[in-house]
Formats: sequence, C-alpha cells, structure tokens
Amino acid sequence: MSKMDVPYKIYLEEQEIPTSWYNVRSDMKNKPAPLIHPGTLQPLKFEDMQPIFCDELIRQELDNETQFIPIPDEVMNFYKMYRPSPLVHAVFLEKALDTPAHIFYKFEGNNTSGSHKLNSAIAQAYYAKKQGLKGVTTETGAGQWGTALSMACSYFGLDCKVFMVKVSYEQKPFRREVMRTYGANVTPSPSMDTEIGKKINAEHPGTTGSLGCAISEAVEVATSTPGYRYELGSVLNQVLLHQSIIGLETKAACDKYGIKPDIIIGCAGGGSNLGGLISSFMGEKLRGEADYRIVAVEPASCPSFTRGKYVYDFCDTGKVCPMAKMYTLGHDFIPSANHAGGLRYHGMSPVLSQLYADGLMEAVSVEQTSVFKAAEQFARVEGILPAPESSHAIRVAIDEALKCKETGEEKVIIFGLTGTGYFDLKAYEAYNNGTMTDYIPTDEDLAKGFASIPDLGL
Ligand SMILES: *Cc1c(COP(=O)(O)O)cnc(C)c1O
Repeated sequence: MSKMDVPYKIYLEEQEIPTSWYNVRSDMKNKPAPLIHPGTLQPLKFEDMQPIFCDELIRQELDNETQFIPIPDEVMNFYKMYRPSPLVHAVFLEKALDTPAHIFYKFEGNNTSGSHKLNSAIAQAYYAKKQGLKGVTTETGAGQWGTALSMACSYFGLDCKVFMVKVSYEQKPFRREVMRTYGANVTPSPSMDTEIGKKINAEHPGTTGSLGCAISEAVEVATSTPGYRYELGSVLNQVLLHQSIIGLETKAACDKYGIKPDIIIGCAGGGSNLGGLISSFMGEKLRGEADYRIVAVEPASCPSFTRGKYVYDFCDTGKVCPMAKMYTLGHDFIPSANHAGGLRYHGMSPVLSQLYADGLMEAVSVEQTSVFKAAEQFARVEGILPAPESSHAIRVAIDEALKCKETGEEKVIIFGLTGTGYFDLKAYEAYNNGTMTDYIPTDEDLAKGFASIPDLGL
C-alpha cells in the first residue's frame, strides 16, 4: 500500500453506514460467563434483572446468539448528528515518527460529550423511553458517560440522575455544568442521599469516592424509585453491542480502500470502546476468516488485564450489583490518588475477559507520564487534543510504529481515538508542570484489592 492510496479522512457515504449492531458473542465459541446472583450464585434470568435494567436492554444483555441487531430508526437519526465518525490517516504522525508504518485512528470525540460513550447512551435512553419510564440513574467517573447520558435523556425527554465520583465532581466542575445544562441532576458520590452512600462515608471518612461506590448509589436509587432504571456506560455486553458501530464503520472504511490492519489498538477501562472498535475484526478472527493482532492498553496504576484475576467479583463497592466473571483487581480496589488518566474501573468487560483468556487478544500496561508524552506529541502534529484515556492507545500505537522503523516493516496500525481532552486540563497541567508522577501498585497494594474478591468456590 502506498501512502498516497487513501484520503486523509475516510468518511462513509450515507448508504454505506451500518444499520445494525454486530453481536460478537454470536461468533464466540466460549461465551462470556453469565452475570450471577450473589446470593444464589445462579445465572441471572430476565426477571432477576428487571428491577435494575430496561427490558429490551436485558434481552440484549442475555442474547449470545443473534449476530446482527437492527439499530432503531430513532437511534439512527440521532447517530446522524455526529456519525459516521472519520477514520483518519495519521500522515503527520507518520512523518514525525519517520516510520514506514501506516497509522490510522478512528476519532470518536466529535460530539459535545467528547467521547464514544454517546453511541450507547442514546440507545439506552431510547429503550428506557420506549418502555414508558420516567427516568434513569447512573454513575460517572471523569464525567464523559454522565454527559453522554444527559444528552441522550434530554433528547428523549427523560429524567437523568447522575452520581459523580467526588474527586471528579470537585476537580472537573465544567463537565458537571455540561450535564446540568442538559437537565441532569448531579450528586457527588459517596453522598448522604442513599443508604449505601451513608455506609461508605461512615466506613471511609473523607473518601474521594470511586466508580464502584457511585454505581452502588445509582442502583439503589433506580431500584427504590418507581419508573426508574439504572444504566451503565461500559463493561456490560449490551454496551459493547452498541459500541460495535465503531468497528463496523472502521471495517467498512478499511474495505472501501483495501486497508488491511495488522494491529488494532484500544485503551481499556471497562472495555466498551475497545470491544466496539475490534468487533467486526474479532468476528473475522473468530470465524477464521482473517487474523489481526489486537492490543488492549491499560494504565499501570489500574492493571485489570495484566495483573488482575479472572474470577467472579462484584461490579461495585457496595455489592448491590450482580457479580460478573471478569479480570478484576477486586471491587475494593481504588487506584492511587496521583492517577489522572481515567480508566480507573477495577474490572473488565466479561466479553473481552473471555477473549483475552482464550488468547485472542493481548494486553499491555503503560505509565501515565509516558501516556501524556504521547498525547503531547500527537496533539502537536495531528491537531487534536486527545483525552488521557485515548492517549494510552496513542502511546502503544507510537511504540509499535517505532518498532516498524527499526525493522523497516510497513505495518498497518489502527487505534481508537476515543475522545478529546478539553476537560482534562488539570491532568495536562500536572504533566506540563512536571509534577505528574507514576505509581505502579506493589503486589501488596494489589493484595488488598484481591482480598475483597469473594471466594465462591466456583
Ligand atoms: C470512558 C472512556 C474510556 C474508557 O471506557 P471503555 O469502556 O473502556 O471504553 C476511554 N476513552 C474515553 C474518552 C472515555 O470517555
């Protein structure tokens, strides 16, 4: 492939835009382990989940068989506001690195929420509205998911109650205001509004919160308020399903110009953007039609894949949620306070966990100063100020491109640029001031989190 063959930005034509989501579980020989009830240890059935999730989303959660699920018209209409997203040929980065590699990135930051999360938020809000619900609750860490769900709820006229991890609520007031502008009610977590919040505050005075705490609070409010359900922005099978739009578009763009990726790279927090980006490619790999190297990148300070255990654990600190079999650091794990780069969740999508356990993808962890170095380099040549989360993928894409420089290989590298970093300037400030530090948890640190994993004898 010559560097001249493809346009700088590949956009799909209207008739080329995918109209169904792809369910990668349908092609997995080893299906992801089901969510189980913490009391009975039995797989959750439809009725068990009804108090928490919308009916249609439960069906999607449990559906391991249907290969393609049509995207409802109302969701397609909303997608049209900001999709298709471009697959960009990173020619300026290639030049700066002086690499023979061909680098592409799928840019999901071109909407007000600033990330890929809107792809699932709009689907989840749609199904809540269709069911005649009054509103939804959720948690948000850095604020991207809360912002995305606020936008989606505002579009469909639903109430949106967001529990925001306290440290982010205080450090990222601007995202909070975007959510409120879209009509959401935003509460710092742990709060004193819920039983579980009071309990966590009593046990850990002065705690700055975690995603796990905020999930517990949001679930408590959803299950105790008539007409409300809970919605989650990552980890779940349904979220990966909605995010498959990223991979479907990427694959269509590649096919249009004969681009055959060798390596596909994505950052991994709960796994939704990565699961989405790789969807169609992993499908080919599972069906034996093609082979790709697929790489998950996680922070060294929250290393679920690379140092976690593949076991059943709670999805939340308060243990009000079902349990999932996943790579986990333990539901009590909280990343060190100096960690500014997002991707803080203790667990990982059960779908990706199974694929990783089966050797179908790789994982690496990277330290945050090296991530911001990559972010700076990328911003200066490609123009976009990347989200810290996305910059994990940039780091590894650059590293792979530099390896190609040594070997002379013209590999094709695709990575997910999940969002923009305008609301993460505190983290950029620390990097620019030279006060950003790296912290890699010791085995003893991790042992504390592992100790919270229940021994179920499974
Ligand atoms: C939430 C988020 C992530 C990580 O979440 P995943 O579910 O792992 O995709 C990555 N990038 C951005 C910009 C995000 O907002």
